[in-house]
Amino acid sequence: MKAVVFEGNGKIGLKERPKPVLKEEQDVLVRVTCASICTSDLHIKHGAVPRAVPGTILGHEFVGVVEETGPGVRKFKPGQRVAVNVETFCGECFFCRRGYVNNCSFPQGGWALGCRIDGGQAEYVRVPFGDNGLTAIPDSVSDESALFAGDLLSTGYWAASIGEIHPADTVAVIGAGPTGLCSMMCARLYGPANIIAVDVDDFRLKLALEQGLADAAVNPLREDPAEAAAALTRGRGADTVIEAAGGENTFEMSWQMARPNGVVCVVAMYEKPQILPLPDMYGKNLIFKTGGVDGNRCQEIMDLIAGGRLDARCLITHRTDLDHIMEAYELFEDKRENVIKYAVRIG
Ligand SMILES: [Zn+2]
Ligand SMILES: [Zn+2]
Repeated sequence: MKAVVFEGNGKIGLKERPKPVLKEEQDVLVRVTCASICTSDLHIKHGAVPRAVPGTILGHEFVGVVEETGPGVRKFKPGQRVAVNVETFCGECFFCRRGYVNNCSFPQGGWALGCRIDGGQAEYVRVPFGDNGLTAIPDSVSDESALFAGDLLSTGYWAASIGEIHPADTVAVIGAGPTGLCSMMCARLYGPANIIAVDVDDFRLKLALEQGLADAAVNPLREDPAEAAAALTRGRGADTVIEAAGGENTFEMSWQMARPNGVVCVVAMYEKPQILPLPDMYGKNLIFKTGGVDGNRCQEIMDLIAGGRLDARCLITHRTDLDHIMEAYELFEDKRENVIKYAVRIG
């Protein structure tokens, strides 16, 4: 089968690989029908993900059809359409039982697919702990509607849920890229009065406003984001800030936009260390929450998609197929043609 392989040293390529086989009782073999390219794939390519293993097939955001199930799989049968979770988790360890599946203590727990074990930018993929890592897609939901359930929407849903957002709050989301846009969609579920989108890219800000994901847009090249947040909140600042950009100065921007006692959620993945200038923020009494998604709310997300309450199809600006995925990678990496996300049709 064809698959996109991380070769190490900044290289990836479309290669021929053997079709995977079931190894463990709880494995599910999935025939991939649609996959996306994620910014994290580029982080792996650039060596910014130390735990990524060279030789691994990339891809952690995809949907498909169950081809074969191990004897320990209870919830799924061949022929069922499924969305695949970015995270692999056992469901039984200390962290899993508390919902912190990103830190599952199973050796391949957390973000493993397309990083440490073969992922879904391929014709087939072996998904460990299939009962935990898959979500059935209802007939009424298309592949493209379900495509982001396991990664981007899970991340946005997690960011909004740890953001302690209350009705009538003001939420600032830094970065109107895929993660930021999904965070805005999910923040909306909590009924904030205002969502402020912050990005240096006017196309992305326009998309956020046009799609009704944000109520106000701030371009830091023209306007001071902290002043803009203060102006919308009678001087206090944003109640919750979700930092989804991971830029040079966006961490600083995030705590500056927050009101005293506000919550700053850092979901961005930085390629460099960041500075936490405690003297400058003394007395602001901020709450910082950081890290990678605990992706265990996929069923809720799928229910919201099926019910028309979450729709991330507006992120898909480009489409291609597996044969042309390397061209897609180039365009995506160069951020040409205002690309937000690719839907890669497979098979
Ligand atoms: Zn991703
Ligand atoms: Zn676990």
